[in-house]
Amino acid sequence: MTSQHSKKKNTFNDQMALDTKDKATRRVIAPYVKIVRKSKGALEKSKEESQKFSFYLHNKPSVLMQDLSSFLSDSVDLASVLQETADVLKVVTKANGVTLYMVDSASEEIYQVPKNVTDERHKVNWKIQKGSTVATYVAYKKEFVLVDDILCDDRFPSGLGYQDDMVKSVLCVPIVTTDGDCYAIVEMYRCVPEAPFSKDDLKISIVVSGWMGAAIHQNRLRLALQKQQELNDYLLDLIKCYFADNVSMETLITEIVKFAKATLGAERGSFFIIDPESSDMTAEVFDEGIDGSEGTTMRKKNIKVRLAKDRSIPGLVARTGVTVNLRDAYNDPRFFTEVEKRTGFITRSILCMPIVSLEKIILGVVQVVNKMNGVVFTSSDENLFKTFSVYCALALHYAKLNDKMHRTDLLNESNLNLLSLQLKPCVHDISNFSKNPEVSIPSGFSDFRWYVSIDEEPIMPQMVYYMIRTVVGFQEVNVHALKEFILTVRKCYRPNPYHNWEHAFNVAHCMYNILLRNKSLFTNVEIKALIIACVCHDLDHGGYTNNFLQKTEQTLSQLYDESFLENHHFQVAMLIYKVIQIFVQLSKTLWQQISAEMKHCILATDLANYFKVRIKLLQISNDQGLDWGNRHHRQLCKAIMMTSCDLSGSCKPYMVAKTLTDNVIKEFYNQGDKEKAMGLTPLSLMDREKSAQIPEDQVNFLNIIVLPCTDLLKSFLPNCADLSAEALLLRKTWQEIIDLKGRKSWRQDDSVVNPIE
Ligand SMILES: [Zn+2]
Repeated sequence: MTSQHSKKKNTFNDQMALDTKDKATRRVIAPYVKIVRKSKGALEKSKEESQKFSFYLHNKPSVLMQDLSSFLSDSVDLASVLQETADVLKVVTKANGVTLYMVDSASEEIYQVPKNVTDERHKVNWKIQKGSTVATYVAYKKEFVLVDDILCDDRFPSGLGYQDDMVKSVLCVPIVTTDGDCYAIVEMYRCVPEAPFSKDDLKISIVVSGWMGAAIHQNRLRLALQKQQELNDYLLDLIKCYFADNVSMETLITEIVKFAKATLGAERGSFFIIDPESSDMTAEVFDEGIDGSEGTTMRKKNIKVRLAKDRSIPGLVARTGVTVNLRDAYNDPRFFTEVEKRTGFITRSILCMPIVSLEKIILGVVQVVNKMNGVVFTSSDENLFKTFSVYCALALHYAKLNDKMHRTDLLNESNLNLLSLQLKPCVHDISNFSKNPEVSIPSGFSDFRWYVSIDEEPIMPQMVYYMIRTVVGFQEVNVHALKEFILTVRKCYRPNPYHNWEHAFNVAHCMYNILLRNKSLFTNVEIKALIIACVCHDLDHGGYTNNFLQKTEQTLSQLYDESFLENHHFQVAMLIYKVIQIFVQLSKTLWQQISAEMKHCILATDLANYFKVRIKLLQISNDQGLDWGNRHHRQLCKAIMMTSCDLSGSCKPYMVAKTLTDNVIKEFYNQGDKEKAMGLTPLSLMDREKSAQIPEDQVNFLNIIVLPCTDLLKSFLPNCADLSAEALLLRKTWQEIIDLKGRKSWRQDDSVVNPIE
């Protein structure tokens, strides 16, 4: 014991003479100095150990056991546990030195844990094979090796893997898990002139390494579960992140890199997001170093890199789509050191993986650098990273969608600003209206039969102004805003033969008359909504039916689930109603109530809805009877009022109704022409080449649509019976025309397929 110590001390002193701070000298003596450093390190280490491990080993083994088991339960860093074990073995076997190698089964290599690796970049990776070093042989055979003189054993031509003439006896044991997986190698040596390792040394080493193998196996299972749990928790968070509003790409990427860094125990993490539009894989770089502060968004670097031409590892991954795991960066030809030279950052290991979309497009690259504690990234790290990258692809996909949606919203807003500016009526129209807002209202205006003459057409805005002010009350409107509103609405009607401003005017006139007679039945909000809804109910009508929009897959039919036109009319109405405050001192709640009412009223003008409303209302009349105090009943009544007004062109004297019918037919034929041009077969009602059966169609339309509606209206608003009476008169006239022609009936199959809305 005494002689060994004095020997070691002498060697140490001899070598100290060579240990100099001069760089050139250090370089020359480097191969030899290493031994000295190790010896020196070992000496210092053994002092520490004597205070800790050796002490406990000899005096209180139970404390040592506790220490080791706490390592296993709390630490994820198995390499450190193994290093401690190796150090214990070294003390127990009185070795001069010990080296721990970890096994990387993916690359079939062993590597030295960095505790033993100095800053000189010597070889740390060795291929597992026979005919090389002791450790590679042990890893290959998974059996211990005990040699008295390493130099005389030709199984190990490379000896210990580094030049050390002093080493003589070697004891090397594998740490094999219960499932036969070689996890690490502990290599102990004694220098000349120490005696070779004994059989007892071997026994102790085998027992300790055996127990370590079993413990590692259990711990690996536990850690795998723990990592899986961490991954699951993280992915859950990531999913929550998708659903959070306004989650930016930066936040998402920060989360991804932080997690990758933490889970894989890396010093540094970067994310490269590739611009899909670029031909040379231009990528934005997000980088988080060791000091990346928690909770903040990672900085996006100002520079962009062109990965197609870049010599970096991310460049390689982006081009090939293959994961790269560099275990020893400086000795890998794929690693390009230029950047390192500039930044001074030392890269030891890299795990770099592509983020691939479902369509197999490379969206980005995640890179983690330097496994903490110096160990390399293992194949289990790679597997974890793979699962993670699938979710990254999803996250990126949604983040991009989000981003696109956000941009579309902004574009929409900007378009709307432009539109509302363009929708403003021209100054001349406003000044004309303002000069002459109140026109003399024609006699008979309060009669349902009244219809606007050609001469009166220019003053329709003034008449609408009059009607609105009359039914909602003069005090309730902002006069200037109302003028602007009416002129804007007029501008938003297209010059269709039928669905035009004049039709809107006529529908509003009918509602004006209904309300004039029944004002007391309705609330202030309802009156405002009903009259404004009528003025707006066909805004921006394109002159085609809902069926046509659906058949030809027009935008509106894809935007809404049903009542495509009516939903659009309402949206345009809102566009104008939002900007121009026509009613005075309207609270937000009232404003919303009127809007909701308007929506109900405008959607009611879809005849498809009318049929449903009619059935419900008839049912109510038959069962408990109509109750004006019941909100649902009121809604149905208002819907019938809207339909009656919309159909009121059929409640006019014959000459008016005839002109309106001609206009409807003109619009129908336009649609028929369009359908033919698109290769579709129009309904015969819309086909100008089919024999016209106008009188028959009209009688049918009155019987099936108009009269049942106006009769229903009459049932709950008897003072509106004139509408039904007029429709009956019209039907009589059409019938007389049919009879005059000697034709008895209309064709059943052509009857009212696409009635006037
Ligand atoms: Zn209409």
